[in-house]
Amino acid sequence: MTFRLIAVLLFGVAVAGCATAPPAGPVPPREPVPEPMPEPGPVAPETETKVTPDDDFTVDPGLIPVLADLGITKQMLIDKRLRPVAEATELVVVQTDPDGRRHELTPVAADAYRAMHAAAADDGIVIGIVSAFRSVARQVQLVRRKLDSGETIEQVLALSAPPGFSEHHSGRVVDLMTPGSAVLEADFADTAAYRWLEANAKRFGFVLSYPENNPEGYLFEPWHWRYDGTAR
Ligand SMILES: [Zn+2]
Repeated sequence: MTFRLIAVLLFGVAVAGCATAPPAGPVPPREPVPEPMPEPGPVAPETETKVTPDDDFTVDPGLIPVLADLGITKQMLIDKRLRPVAEATELVVVQTDPDGRRHELTPVAADAYRAMHAAAADDGIVIGIVSAFRSVARQVQLVRRKLDSGETIEQVLALSAPPGFSEHHSGRVVDLMTPGSAVLEADFADTAAYRWLEANAKRFGFVLSYPENNPEGYLFEPWHWRYDGTAR
């Protein structure tokens, strides 16, 4: 799908979203439609994709063909109330797995995670990182792999963010695990580690991004914690 098609879709959405419809009454006679309607008001550049004041965001023009190629429409982004997430530019390694895989966060988030990890250990709780920073390119690979395995894009987006919209791009998010619990599964919520995080993570500035019934429509993700920089 081209950007123009997306723009047309958007325009339709913006119109449909207008709140105050006139009261029902006699339908005025239809006017003939002699030629294409002129654009209302000043024409925004193509890279601007503003929709309504409440859905006011722009998509990196370089992402548009990437999203379209995966079958991700602007409407899906709007429905999920997603916002673009910029890739972190400064990263440090915060955990290296036995197989050599390195997990990275921004320096501030890394410090906060290390402090939280140590405090958990003091309380007898073991937590580890499954996934931290993730690039946009990597997110494209993940979504593509799921599509290739037969999932629909709707199924993929119930658990994975569209490339450019994952909180993991920020370098301030960790997916956590604890020994004895399946990785990235809802029953992480039944672990002592999760209960510890619920009680203590906020002291280190970490909050749960996707609690149950989150407006983004993601599944409940008890493992996904975001450093929001406000320890309390
Ligand atoms: Zn996550």
